[in-house]
Amino acid sequence: MTTTATPPKQTMAFQAEVAQLLKLVTHSLYSNPEIFLRELVSNASDACDKLRFESLNNAALLESDPELKVRISFDKDAKTLSITDNGIGLSEQEAIDNLGTIAKSGTRDFMASLSGDQKNDAQLIGQFGVGFYSGFIVADRITVESRRAGLAPEQGVRWSSEGTGEFEVAQIQRADRGTSITLHLKDDAQDYLNAYKLKGVINKYSDHISLPILMEKEEWKDGELISSTDPEGGRQPGGMAKTGEWETVNQAAALWTRAKKDITPEQYDEFYKQISYDQNAPLASTHNRVEGSTEYTQLLFIPSKAPMDMFNRDKAAGVKLYVKRVFIMDDAQALMPVYLRFVKGVVDSADLPLNVSRELLQESRAVKAIREGCTKRVLGMIEDLAKNNVLSASSPDGVADDVTDVVSEEDKAQVGKFDTFYTEFGAVLKEGLGEDFANRDRIAKLLRFASSTTDTTTVSFADYKARMKDGQDAIYYITADTLAAAKSSPQLEIFRKKGIEVLLMADRVDEWALNYLHEFDGTPLQSVAKGAVDLGKLQDEDEKKAAELAQTEFKPTLDKLKDALKDKASDVRATSRLVDSPACLVVQDGDMSTQLARMLKQAGQAVPEVKPILEINAEHPLVKKLVGSSNFDDLAHIIFDQALLAEGGMPADPAAYVKRVNALLL
Ligand code: ADP
Repeated sequence: MTTTATPPKQTMAFQAEVAQLLKLVTHSLYSNPEIFLRELVSNASDACDKLRFESLNNAALLESDPELKVRISFDKDAKTLSITDNGIGLSEQEAIDNLGTIAKSGTRDFMASLSGDQKNDAQLIGQFGVGFYSGFIVADRITVESRRAGLAPEQGVRWSSEGTGEFEVAQIQRADRGTSITLHLKDDAQDYLNAYKLKGVINKYSDHISLPILMEKEEWKDGELISSTDPEGGRQPGGMAKTGEWETVNQAAALWTRAKKDITPEQYDEFYKQISYDQNAPLASTHNRVEGSTEYTQLLFIPSKAPMDMFNRDKAAGVKLYVKRVFIMDDAQALMPVYLRFVKGVVDSADLPLNVSRELLQESRAVKAIREGCTKRVLGMIEDLAKNNVLSASSPDGVADDVTDVVSEEDKAQVGKFDTFYTEFGAVLKEGLGEDFANRDRIAKLLRFASSTTDTTTVSFADYKARMKDGQDAIYYITADTLAAAKSSPQLEIFRKKGIEVLLMADRVDEWALNYLHEFDGTPLQSVAKGAVDLGKLQDEDEKKAAELAQTEFKPTLDKLKDALKDKASDVRATSRLVDSPACLVVQDGDMSTQLARMLKQAGQAVPEVKPILEINAEHPLVKKLVGSSNFDDLAHIIFDQALLAEGGMPADPAAYVKRVNALLL
C-alpha cells in the first residue's frame, strides 16, 4: 500500500475582531454588494504594484512572467468566480497574518466606529478599506491560492474559509506566482456568473487601474460570434461558451495619464473615492501636466469632509507618488506642505529615480519644485472656490445685465463650496501662515473670521479693510477660547463704544498663526489684548487728556495695587479701553496670551511663566470704592481674579477667591 502524503492542513480561528467584522460583512452589507469586485481588483492591483516595486532591486522576482495583470474568470457549473493576479503573492505565514488577523490600525478604527446602523456601516467598510472580507458579501466560501514571488513552487499556500469563525491553511504546490481568489457564490449572487455584468462593474470601478484586467472571450454555442457587450440580444440558444482567448476589458491606463477631455466628472469622482476611501464626491479637483525643468502630472482633490484626525500634524499626507507610472509610495509627505495635508491625489514624475526613498525625497530638488507647484495649484483651487462661492448679482463691471438669468448649472453647483471648505479645513489652512512664508499673502486672503459687528463668520481681511473707519490704522482682532468669550471680552468695550470692528478668533491655532502675520495689504494687525491700547487718531483730545490725567492722579492707588498684587501681576496701570468693566488683563506685545499659555499647559507643554498686566478702569464705581477702602488688599485680589475669570481663566486659588467674595457679601 502506498501512502500519499496529504499536505498538513491547519485549522485556525480568526482573531476576535476579524470574526466580528466577518459577521458584519455577511449579515449587513447587502446594500451595495458589487463593491466586492472593486475591493478584490484593487488588492490584486496593489499586489502587482508591490511586486513591481520590489523587482526594481531584484529583477529575478519577475521570473519569466514580467507582464503584470489581473484575470477574472467564472465557472457557471461550479458557481465560482476567480480573481487572479501575478503580483507579489503571499507566503503561508503572510496568508495567516494578513487574512486571519487585523494588523492595521485603520481596520481597528473601522471596528471602533461601527454604529450598528447597517447603512452607515456599509459605507464605512469602503472608507477604511477592509477590502478582502467584502468577498463574503457574495460568497459562502472563499479559497485563496497563492505563492509569494521568489519562493519555490512547493511553498504555495491554500487558505480557505466559510467566513464564520475559522479558516484553514495548507501548503500546496503552485507553479504560478501571485494570488488567485476563488469565490463560491451564494445562491443570490449568481448574477456575477455573467461576463456582461462583470464588465459593467469593472467599467464602473476599475477602469483607471493601470493594470490590464483580462476576461476570457466568449462566443455563442451555435457558433455565431457576437459582441459580449450585447449578451442577450433576445436569443436563448445554448448560451455563451469560452473561446480560450483573453481580452482586456478595462482602459488599463492610469486615469491621470489620460487626456482631461477624455475623462468624465464621474470618472474623476470614482477615482477620488477609490484612492481616498471617502464615499463622498470631492469638493474640487485639478489635473495638469506640468512641463519645465521638472516634469510631472498632478491630479489633486480637495475632499468635502475633514477626517477625524485632521488636527494630527503627523498624520499621513494623502498624495501618492508614482515615478513613470510605477507606484512608489503612499502618503508622500514631501510632496505637500503639512498645512495642506487634507489634499488627496497622485503625482507622477519622470524626473525622480525609481528607487527613491523617503529620505531622498526630502532632499531632492525636483521634489521641492513639485511641492511648490502642487501648493500653488491647491491654493488656486481654493481661490476658485472662494470666487465662485456666491453667484454675483451683476456683471464684473457692476452693471446689472440679463446674463445673470442664464447662470449655468455648473456655476450654481459651485455656490457654497467655499463655505464647506472653510468649515472643514479653514483651521488647518491657517497653519500655513506659520509654515509657508512664500504664500503667506495668498493664504491670508483666503482666511475668514467672525467679527464684533457682524453675525457671520465670513469676514475676510479685505472686507474688514473696506469697512475701516477714517483714521483707523490697524486691523484689530482678539483671540479667545470660544467665540462667545471673544465677543463678550472686556477688551472690546472701547471698540464697541467707538463702533470699531474687531475680528473675533477662537480656533486653537489662531494666536499661533496670527503671530506670523504682521500686516495685511500694508495695514498692521493688532491684538486688542496685547500691549497698551493705542487708538491713535481715533481717540479725541479730551479722551487722551483724561487718560493721562488718570495715569498721574491715580498713581498712588496704582502703586498700592502693584504692591498688593506683586505675585500675580507684572504691572498695574490705568486704561481707557474699558467702559463697563472695572479691570482686565493684558500681556506685553509679543508675549503669549494667557489663553494660549493655558492651552499649552493643558496639552502638557512647558510654558514660561508670564505675569499679565492688570489694567484698571479709573471711572468704574468699584475702583472708586477701592481708593481708601479698609479691605484694600481683598478687593484688589477680587478685581484681579474677576478679570481672570472674565477671559475664561481660573484664579490660582479659587477657594481663597470664594472666601473673599463671601466676606464682602456678608
Ligand atoms: P488592505 O488591502 O486594505 O490592506 P485587505 O483586507 O483587503 O486590506 O487585505 C489584507 C491584506 O491581505 C493586504 O494588506 C495584503 O497584504 C493581503 N492581500 C490581499 N489580497 C492580496 C493579493 N491579491 N495578493 C497579495 N496579498 C493580498
